[in-house]
Amino acid sequence: METTVLPLYINGEFIRKSPQFDNISPVNGQLVSKVTYADRADVDNAVAAARAALDGPWGEMTPEQRSALLNKLADAIEARFEDFVAAEVQDTGRPLSVARSLDIPRAIANFRTFADMSKTNVSTSCITYNADGSQLINYTVRKPLGVIAVIAPWNLPLLLMTWKLGPALSMGNTVVCKPSEETPSSATLLAEVMDQVGIPKGVFNLIHGYGREGEYLTQNKDIDAVSFTGESRTGASIMKTVADGVKEVSFELGGKNAAVVFADADFDAAVAGVARSSFFNTGQVCMCTERVYVHRSIFDKFVAALKAKAESLVLGAPDGADTEVGPLISHKHREKVASYFKIAVEEGATVVTGNRIPEFGDDKDGGAFVLPTIWTGLNDDARIIQEEIFGPVCHISPFDDDAEVIKRVNDSKYGLVCSLWTTNVARSHRVAGQIHTGIVWVNTWFARDLRTPFGGVKASGIGREGGQYSLDFFSEITNVSVKY
Ligand code: NAD
Repeated sequence: METTVLPLYINGEFIRKSPQFDNISPVNGQLVSKVTYADRADVDNAVAAARAALDGPWGEMTPEQRSALLNKLADAIEARFEDFVAAEVQDTGRPLSVARSLDIPRAIANFRTFADMSKTNVSTSCITYNADGSQLINYTVRKPLGVIAVIAPWNLPLLLMTWKLGPALSMGNTVVCKPSEETPSSATLLAEVMDQVGIPKGVFNLIHGYGREGEYLTQNKDIDAVSFTGESRTGASIMKTVADGVKEVSFELGGKNAAVVFADADFDAAVAGVARSSFFNTGQVCMCTERVYVHRSIFDKFVAALKAKAESLVLGAPDGADTEVGPLISHKHREKVASYFKIAVEEGATVVTGNRIPEFGDDKDGGAFVLPTIWTGLNDDARIIQEEIFGPVCHISPFDDDAEVIKRVNDSKYGLVCSLWTTNVARSHRVAGQIHTGIVWVNTWFARDLRTPFGGVKASGIGREGGQYSLDFFSEITNVSVKY
């Protein structure tokens, strides 16, 4: 069978050429497709096309017309739902059920939500009373921010890319997108659908490649802003690159998220919730829990229950009827996660379960699987407790009182999310208010309402996206002041 070659999409043209890089399945190590590398000229052409498109038919559309087009786009994704599921699953190896229930529905919702919000967005106004009796009517006018560089990671490829594209396009911007080198397929399919529904040429451009190609994009002086999701150190590097041009940035970065289980928690709900927050998507969600703090009075019971849950999880291929946990994204990423198996032992951790690569005796042995892993016994300054691992792993520590655990949760360079498990309502509010993260969940995890702010503090990010926060980032406001 002929190998598929994924194209770039620049100024409404699909471009297939050499050189190309390999897209490898994390399930069995086999070639999925070849991907066209963007060179610097391609990236510059994409930015130029995006710049020109701001003044084309796209720039002349009313918010209602743009909104109608984005809803048409959402309908077209829905019409090719299973193609998108297949694209996401072949690159990530995640269970089909996850792509069907999370990735693709959320991508559709990202377009529909922001299509509606941008249409109903209102400007603000106020009247100034001057000493000479004259007055000013002040009102705001929102304009597109311009050409946006959208750079996305591999862990929730289409979901995270469209989380930026929905608001960016609905506010009239044009974009140059770079998906991760690990997950180029769903973004390429999205380009096909953009083309098919008639998004004007140059509005959405797609380039493929690694960090170097991402840098071609951020180094281009003609972009107006960068919306980036990925590792904190990549964010730092992008920030340096765009500093001279004083470009706006919105960064959703790494995490080392905690879950706190109080003695009064609904025990079974907490075990199920922490198992999900630690092992869902093979631990590859920026919001996953890698630090668990459990009240000492229920510590042993909790560790035993989470161990049983972790050991019951079924690892397998995406189409396995019982599969709950897929592989990591790549062998390279597995090397990183497995290096922490070694570090944990060197640091003196007690291995409760996992801490190794499984053997299946079939072609999955060519994949990038690891066992769900639980450790205990380390001090808070251990690397296992401080560094983002981004795998199906967690360390569980006992705690004695609320003030102590709040301090320990906040003792991190990251600050993305935290989950509290308690039936005491007053405690949940009191503690949540003192946790230094962008999101605190109580008795739940990964509960998302697209209107709410999403983002992190400290090394976990800059700014917030979601609802009005996204519309604010992806637009410029001019205050018009009229004297009368
Ligand atoms: P990464 O930073 O390695 O790569 C992200 C993207 O940036 C990729 O497209 C990559 O090719 C590109 N890139 C790499 N170097 C670049 C550079 N110097 N200039 C421009 N672009 C560059 O991240 P990853 O490994 O793909 O994703 C995992 C990370 O993302 C984890 O740290 C995770 O916590 C984080 N993440 C955060 C959120 C959030 O919302 N806060 C969500 C998902 C993932």
